[in-house]
Amino acid sequence: MAAILIAEDERRLSDLLRQHLEDEGHRVLQAFDGPSAELVARRDRPDLIVLDWMLPRLDGLEVCRRVRRESVVPILMLTARSEEIDRVLGLEVGADDYLTKPFSIRELLARVRALLRRIDLDREAGSADAALPALVAGPLRVDLSQHLAEIDGRAIDLTPKEFELLTMLVRHPGRAFSRDYLMDKVWGYDAGGSDRTVDTHVLRLRRKLGTIGEWIETVWGLGYRFARPPGP
Ligand code: CA
Repeated sequence: MAAILIAEDERRLSDLLRQHLEDEGHRVLQAFDGPSAELVARRDRPDLIVLDWMLPRLDGLEVCRRVRRESVVPILMLTARSEEIDRVLGLEVGADDYLTKPFSIRELLARVRALLRRIDLDREAGSADAALPALVAGPLRVDLSQHLAEIDGRAIDLTPKEFELLTMLVRHPGRAFSRDYLMDKVWGYDAGGSDRTVDTHVLRLRRKLGTIGEWIETVWGLGYRFARPPGP
């Protein structure tokens, strides 16, 4: 059971989501415009936010940006424009996941469950990872206890999902991971192979890692592999 904020101005949709989330045992808060969504997020500290992009007075992107400045609460963005996914999930906005309207309630509940499961896993891993040594590959260092990736001692600005993806790849050098596997392990659900989420994140991760990004190889017809070239 979690406290979930629904920030959505379409009253009928908001109430429908509320009903289904309450049926799952969650406590639901509702906000119907941008400023009140920001206020409730700050004041009531929900465990998860379902955030519509198109909100009156302050749009969902801006609400997301503002909430992100002070909180790592999982944010599921509702959007009508699938072409803007890169921005929504990127560092600039920082949502954890998105759904394109129209979506099925079943799909939304699955995403919510996956995000909430991640929080639980992170909490468990938090105590276990503290004892782990950092993963090191050449100049790249991935510190699991601090959730920090560095190249030559310089911190790389990664979103939580980019960090998890990098950790998964670097932890098993040379192993080829399918997109479905990465989707399941990092995002907690299987999108059925039509989803661009993994590719989008790998693309951005490569860019941020510079020359080391080239070590993340594409395995044609499958997915990705972290392959450090031989040498020092
Ligand atoms: Ca709306």
